[in-house]
Amino acid sequence: MAFVTGLRCRECGRTYPTEPLNVCDFCFGPLEVAYDYDAIARIISRDRITSGPLSMWRYQDLLPVDGTDAVDINAGFTPLVKSKNLGKLLGLDNLYIKNDSVNPSYSFKDRVVSVAATKALEFGFETLACASTGNLACSVAAHAARAGMKAVVFIPADLEAGKVIGAAIYAPTVVAIKGSYDEVNRLCSEVGDNWNWAFVNINMRAFYAEGSKTLGYEVAEQLNWRAPQHAVVPSASGSMYTKIYKGYKELESLGLLDAPVTTKMHLTQAAGCAPIVDGFESEDDIIKPVKPNTVAKSLAIGNPADGIYAIRTLRESGGSAYAVPEESVTEGIKLLAETEGIFTETAGGVVISGLRYLASSGAIKRDELTVAYITGNGLKTQEAVEDVVHPLLIDPSISSFEQALNGQKAGGN
Ligand SMILES: *Cc1c(COP(=O)(O)O)cnc(C)c1O
Ligand SMILES: [Zn+2]
Repeated sequence: MAFVTGLRCRECGRTYPTEPLNVCDFCFGPLEVAYDYDAIARIISRDRITSGPLSMWRYQDLLPVDGTDAVDINAGFTPLVKSKNLGKLLGLDNLYIKNDSVNPSYSFKDRVVSVAATKALEFGFETLACASTGNLACSVAAHAARAGMKAVVFIPADLEAGKVIGAAIYAPTVVAIKGSYDEVNRLCSEVGDNWNWAFVNINMRAFYAEGSKTLGYEVAEQLNWRAPQHAVVPSASGSMYTKIYKGYKELESLGLLDAPVTTKMHLTQAAGCAPIVDGFESEDDIIKPVKPNTVAKSLAIGNPADGIYAIRTLRESGGSAYAVPEESVTEGIKLLAETEGIFTETAGGVVISGLRYLASSGAIKRDELTVAYITGNGLKTQEAVEDVVHPLLIDPSISSFEQALNGQKAGGN
């Protein structure tokens, strides 16, 4: 814990020791990890980072763990791809795709869970648990397997098969709840009162959330030590969105960037669950919980824990918030796949449709450096695209093949 000074309440500023706590006793505000940035500044450098491991753990000085023995399945250091075709189509000359769908359990959640699992072991927990919209369950189960910990993952019962199986294969206890994510989360808070488990996104949340900062560090490093002018990010609880910005800002204040951070942070949600977008558009920035009804299940949090902080980041960065029409989610998935060869899940469909809107509305100008964050893998949400792909089914003969090809042309497939 070289550089962690403790936990601090985000609302009243009270400080707490480094323990598995997530709310302030005094005002019920959420707790956040506090660092000794002067001490970090004395030791950190670009060289120190670039000589580190080819994973998110190259930024360990900025993560809240003690030792060097991380629970690590190699999260992070994912490709930042310069767009060839999508940018051209959207009128953007300087577009990059952060392809975080290729993490070990196929979503960015490996970054947050790697930190939370490491911290859970440091605290002496034997069981790793979570309330999940899907991807988190996969990542918690995978990291627990690696760490030799028990895992109990709680999910809404109506998740895509790819996420249920993608979690269950690592042999955690999978608890599918007949209810929404918000109900799963509420139940988990009660379970946490009675079982001494490390719930990565409840009692471990302060540590967990810090893992998302690496999505900011990594992009800045890959852009040769500068932050983009625009970041387009999907949002559920709002946590990752705020932490990407925090990542850019930390590098800036540590003197590691060549230019000041001017990133406009664009937040995207699906219209069927857009409480943060609605809150941002409301008069008083107040978030009203909604009952999710969206194809983007990984983003289906109706009562977002970090929603108000996401709105603060929206205001501070001069970003925008956009609710993508439900029918555009699949279009976004198809568009990214067809133009760049990247198959993302529904959350990525939200981002690409949001990006298309931002480009067409002029919010992002042609030459501006833009990064679209793709946070999850399309093989986990095949249900969303089942009806829009059309393999040719033929007999094993040339004539059948020709007939099918001609039919395809006629059908304009
Ligand atoms: C969980 C998740 C998000 C949103 O994360 P929050 O920090 O809760 O906003 C985005 N994309 C994918 C693929 C996710 O699984
Ligand atoms: Zn407080």
